[in-house]
Amino acid sequence: MTVQQQGTGASSDRAKHWHSIDWAGCYREVRRLQARIVKATQEGRCGKVKALQRLLTNSFSGKALAVRRVTENQGRRTPGVDGITWSTPKSKIKAVLSLKRRGYRPCPLRRIYIPKADGKKMRPLGIPCMIDRAQQALYLLALEPIAETMADPNSYGFRSARSTADAIEQCFTVLSQADSATWILEADIRSCFDEISHDWLIAHIPTDKAMLRGWSKAGYLHNRVLHVTEAGTPQGGIISPTLMNMTLDGLENMLRARYRRSKNNSPKVNIVRYADDFIITGVTKDVLVNEVRPTVEQFLAERGLSLSQEKTRVTHIDNGFDFLGMNVRKYGGKLLIKPAKANVQRFLRKLRETVKAGAMWRQGDLIRKLNPLLRGWANYHRHAVSKHIFNSVAHAVWQCLWRWARRRHPHKGTGWVRRRYFRSVGFRQWIFGTETGKTLGSGRKELLVLYDIAGTPIRRHRKIKADANPFDPKWESYFEERLGLAMMDSLKGRKQLIRLWLDQVRACPVCQQMITKSSGWRLYHMVRKIDGGKDTPGNLVVLHPGCHQIARALGLSVVKPAPSMGL
Ligand SMILES: [Zn+2]
Repeated sequence: MTVQQQGTGASSDRAKHWHSIDWAGCYREVRRLQARIVKATQEGRCGKVKALQRLLTNSFSGKALAVRRVTENQGRRTPGVDGITWSTPKSKIKAVLSLKRRGYRPCPLRRIYIPKADGKKMRPLGIPCMIDRAQQALYLLALEPIAETMADPNSYGFRSARSTADAIEQCFTVLSQADSATWILEADIRSCFDEISHDWLIAHIPTDKAMLRGWSKAGYLHNRVLHVTEAGTPQGGIISPTLMNMTLDGLENMLRARYRRSKNNSPKVNIVRYADDFIITGVTKDVLVNEVRPTVEQFLAERGLSLSQEKTRVTHIDNGFDFLGMNVRKYGGKLLIKPAKANVQRFLRKLRETVKAGAMWRQGDLIRKLNPLLRGWANYHRHAVSKHIFNSVAHAVWQCLWRWARRRHPHKGTGWVRRRYFRSVGFRQWIFGTETGKTLGSGRKELLVLYDIAGTPIRRHRKIKADANPFDPKWESYFEERLGLAMMDSLKGRKQLIRLWLDQVRACPVCQQMITKSSGWRLYHMVRKIDGGKDTPGNLVVLHPGCHQIARALGLSVVKPAPSMGL
């Protein structure tokens, strides 16, 4: 055994306060262990993998990051059955020190019911206790590097560096050519999360078996009655998506081995998977129905899963299919990927409901509510052939807002209503906008306008390389580059932010970690406004949302790195 006990000793006296934790050091230690786990996995050294995992799950750094994760995410204020949330720095540091394997027993989940997308039926949701969430986050730190190393190359869901855009781009790759496969098996697994066999999970997932068994069998409390869970990944658990991905990994390699390309035969069997949603291509309907589908069903059956008979079907590319909110279809031999009809309609319904709810709001408040919706939806679809649909959505939104405005002033003429709510900016007219009351540096009044969805640039997405692994140091620069591009893309037009971010070498001065699109950011005034600080770039710095809290709590004076010369 060559595993060294580095940096894990004397953990309890490493930090007495949440705000004095050396976050940069924590990330460094965890990342280093994760990279070693990847290496040991690639070398097939199971004993060493286990030892490194144990080192990570016992480390102060791992525990601190796990607690940080569950106390900063969205559900942090929703307690489990014990009613406990960790909201103060004191309770957080106590939680870090209490994360132990010995004597730990998971609590049953608290069951709540939330309305389904159709608004009628209710969907059950299990809420774990904070301690169980933190334990799962901790063991996930040690499991994810293995999951990423063993993952199917064309699996894109619930993985840290991948997105739906990558999955859609892969569909384009395997279907767009003149000689591409023309038949598609659209697969739908029957309630995947709930049906996965516990025995299979415990036998095959390389993590602590006792912990995994505990989470799987925790059951749930409803009306003070304990219900036992017989199958499925731990509900509401941070670790569940990764467990599900690992359950389905291997399907791609199995198909690859079976349908190897030979000199005069190319069956073109390709799979594209996003979590439990996947498609498989093939040259004939016969291959998909009589060979591929039974193979897939057998693979699933071993894991306690089955295909939904109603929702699984085989389609021709000329008829097209919906996948991840997109429609993929060939028109006269040309593959076009557009926003799916059902997805567009659902989005319009949501917009109309928002405008309806805002009948009495001020115009600025309505715009602030609509803009994130419009921007988010446009961003999701901006890699597809969406120009035409963006225009029609823009028109539908305009109609909706015009009615909204007219209804507020039934006794005024159309000209008056137009002047009151719509502006002209440059060549664009009929822009739904209002003055914020602030005056810009140039002396002009600041204008708040509706996001221009029709003006969203359509840009081809650069697909991630299929075998890229974010935990493997050899991919580091590849990811840094991708990160930089994606970030610039999302910040376009916000020049000041870009300059700030570049000036601080793209990193957060508090924890020294990269600031990315997914980490989010907050502006921090180095001299507080109360103390006379200004909104000028010299007084601003970009931090992670979590680091922002810490900096605020400690009143940190963040030191900005000097920008490099000559730029
Ligand atoms: Zn930070």
